[in-house]
Amino acid sequence: MTERISAFHAERCDICGECLHRCPVLELPLAEAKEEFRNLVEGRKSSYVLDKCTTCFSCNLYCPQNANPYQLILERWNDRYKQRGAPPLYKFVCPTEEPNIWQLMNIFFSDREKQWVSEWMNYIPGPEDVVLLVGNYTHLFPFILGGSRLLDYFKPIDRIDQWEGGAYLYQAGYLDLVKEVAERTKKDFDTWGVKTVVPLLDAVYRIFTEVHPREMGVEHSQSFINFHDWLLENIDSGEIRLENKLNLMVTVHDNCYSKSADKPYWDAPREILRRCGCKILEMEHNRKDSLCCGFGAGASWVRNISIPFDIIHEGTKKFREAEATGADALVSYCGGCIYLLWAARELLGSKIGVYHMVEIVRMAMGETINYPSDHVERAWDIISIITYQLIVSLFQKNFYIERLTFDEGMSTFKPRGRYLLLRMIRKVLSFSLTRKAYAAMFRMIMPLISTR
Ligand code: SF4
Ligand code: SF4
Repeated sequence: MTERISAFHAERCDICGECLHRCPVLELPLAEAKEEFRNLVEGRKSSYVLDKCTTCFSCNLYCPQNANPYQLILERWNDRYKQRGAPPLYKFVCPTEEPNIWQLMNIFFSDREKQWVSEWMNYIPGPEDVVLLVGNYTHLFPFILGGSRLLDYFKPIDRIDQWEGGAYLYQAGYLDLVKEVAERTKKDFDTWGVKTVVPLLDAVYRIFTEVHPREMGVEHSQSFINFHDWLLENIDSGEIRLENKLNLMVTVHDNCYSKSADKPYWDAPREILRRCGCKILEMEHNRKDSLCCGFGAGASWVRNISIPFDIIHEGTKKFREAEATGADALVSYCGGCIYLLWAARELLGSKIGVYHMVEIVRMAMGETINYPSDHVERAWDIISIITYQLIVSLFQKNFYIERLTFDEGMSTFKPRGRYLLLRMIRKVLSFSLTRKAYAAMFRMIMPLISTR
């Protein structure tokens, strides 16, 4: 078995402090940035980074020595995980822990969504299939993809215990677990005999093509295609026809992983949006300086109870910038960010539209989507689940992730019990008045509970 390879190049770093000085979240004065980074290198107590970083990847692009400071932060979080475990709320995004968001979302899926998800989860691909990895977060919004002609080109596969290849475990610094996921996914792909894999997320593309081989010592033998490159190529060749130009003013949310590659991923989505008839208005922080959707604030957690408030606190900055552009809509090309952005939109009472890029393409193809109703209802499903999970987590302790895969019966994916409290919360949050009251209360207590 190969060892993990640290991607931080200590030998290149001269502790210049640029990375933390230019960090759009910390913005440390240069002297403090140097001291903080020296502490990180020497494994001493961090005053800012480990408790405030939103895991956005930007610092790697600011480093003049290409030393990969971001990967040092991940190493230090990995050390922290070994000492204190993960916060109980993190079970929420662990498909092999209970209860988790996939298990609980089953309760709210429509029959049509259950059917799509069941097909995607149960299909065993063969060597001739070009598989599209739907992934853990798009799984929560099957309506984004389900029924689209875009799926005619692939066999959609939805294995939530592939953990998006370990992409979000990686961002929280659970590096030893990412290595295990890398080995597990290799076994899956090789057993299926597939030759071509298309991850829907740039994050997952990056994980399979760069993180697994370079940092985890796991080389996949499949050929990976970036979904946005595929989409752009097929639009330009005329295979995918965009006959319904949208005339929409949009601003683009660049996700963390869009900055992680040697060749950034932010250009293709913008080109696709232009082909769809969108005019792009950029936010103050975009591309290499882009702010996180908020989700990354969970990686630098300080107190379990504060996590949702820290996340929405960071998300608030994104919405302020998006609204300031005057755009009709904020478009995300990451299925991980979209669930957070919609929950934040509802809690913050923002009026700006929020789309997944696939939805924009589908509309330009002339397909009908049930916008915004599907998103609004799903956002309140998610808010209800997080509320429920937060209550449950108050009675739980920090934990270690012991199990990465399902048993044959996918036991932790299926809801066990009736979850009456969750159903009650969701029922209460089905009315416009109670939603408004809940959102107002959330905004009122956010500054008191958030650690930001
Ligand atoms: S990682 Fe790069 S930017 Fe940060 S202190 Fe070292 S050399 Fe400077
Ligand atoms: S990953 Fe982003 S938030 Fe974290 S230190 Fe680097 S630039 Fe700052």
